[in-house]
Amino acid sequence: MLDIRTIREQSGRVQETAVMKGIRLEVVRLLELDEQRRSLMTELDALREKRNKHSKEVPRLMKDNRQDEAEVHKLEVVSLIQRLKEGEARLKQIDAAYEALMLEVPNFVSPDTPIGLSEEDNVEIRKVGMPPVFSYQPLSHVELGHLHGMMDLQRGVKIGGARQVVLRNAGLLLHRAVQQLALDLLEEEGFELYDVPVMVREETLVSSGFFPGSRDQTYRIEGEDKWLTGTSEVPLISLYSGEILDLSKPRLLAACTPCFRREVGSAGRDVHGLYRVHQFAKVEQVVICRADHDLANHWLARITSHAEKLLQLLELPYRVVAVCTGDLSQKNYKQFDIETWMPSRNGYGETHSASLLLDFQARRSRIRYRDEQGQLHFAYTLNNTMAASPRLLIPLIENHQLEDGTIIIPDALRPYLKGIDKLSVS
Ligand code: AMP
Repeated sequence: MLDIRTIREQSGRVQETAVMKGIRLEVVRLLELDEQRRSLMTELDALREKRNKHSKEVPRLMKDNRQDEAEVHKLEVVSLIQRLKEGEARLKQIDAAYEALMLEVPNFVSPDTPIGLSEEDNVEIRKVGMPPVFSYQPLSHVELGHLHGMMDLQRGVKIGGARQVVLRNAGLLLHRAVQQLALDLLEEEGFELYDVPVMVREETLVSSGFFPGSRDQTYRIEGEDKWLTGTSEVPLISLYSGEILDLSKPRLLAACTPCFRREVGSAGRDVHGLYRVHQFAKVEQVVICRADHDLANHWLARITSHAEKLLQLLELPYRVVAVCTGDLSQKNYKQFDIETWMPSRNGYGETHSASLLLDFQARRSRIRYRDEQGQLHFAYTLNNTMAASPRLLIPLIENHQLEDGTIIIPDALRPYLKGIDKLSVS
């Protein structure tokens, strides 16, 4: 959420940002509502003052036995109460429209974000590791999964419908191993580790900046004011909503939770295997820091490097891309995606997404801190994936396969898999 004063002062920039991000928003309409709201509030204040003045006259005049004059004031009070009621009802309507539009306003975009319409316009920043060159036809993760009895895609669909998968034996162990390695790395980096609710109230999704934008992507629990979150960024940020924090040091938070996504609009895309499913697990990093651009950029680089370290330990080739304006979500100011090499796609596929939101999210969530002078400020927030599985299993098993289907386990994962160094085909 942007400050309404900023929107008034920089309405042109706000409108341009909405266009760049492909968000339909009429800033002029918002400014009209803002104006109507403010003038109506002033009008109502004046009416209240008048009503109080006339009300005070009534007992004084009655005491002096001046009933007729008191009656005049009484009538005036009745009429003012009626006008106030009507005005307050109008204000309620204007407020609702104003607040709904305020939630649609996008965050600004950092000056170094590449201009573009969609992910094709994202710009590669660096490439790490070389995609493997196979002297034989490599198997896809689906084929490897079958070969090793690691996944059962048919039964996943039988149980839960499309885009639902069953992981089995080594499939489950790898899924858990990458998450545990991710958590251990974050703990070493000083992150607090959390288990948090993934069933959250609507208000939590609004205040963390996900609603109304992601409403259609979110599963609702029938009959309750509860939704299933698509990421633990929602509960992690909301841990501190409405609070004033000591941010002399940034808060580093991590959680490992299931994530649920409706994937509306993805019909026909990535329908095979583990890439795009309705339920997956994610280790997420969240940082809450002081409102300082340099500090925030430092942390954006740090949380990106944590994910890169994981990929390097997993011995996977990847690249980092700067996400362009048209691919930036409503709440993001700047974003880097990490894409990992997936032989079955013959290309890089997104596995991580690191974002800086400035105070956009904290303003909605009302997360504040005091500076040295005691002045209150909204905090800056950032987040990044650390490990999202089963998608991460795709590059893991596809890049480390041998000709006979054996899968080599990278050194860093072995301690989480009872020391085994490979999965052989039995
Ligand atoms: P996001 O929170 O949308 O930035 O996604 C973070 C990461 O979660 C992505 O980079 C993917 O690795 C993973 N992910 C997102 N959506 C899905 C999905 N539908 N199925 C599997 N993994 C997903």
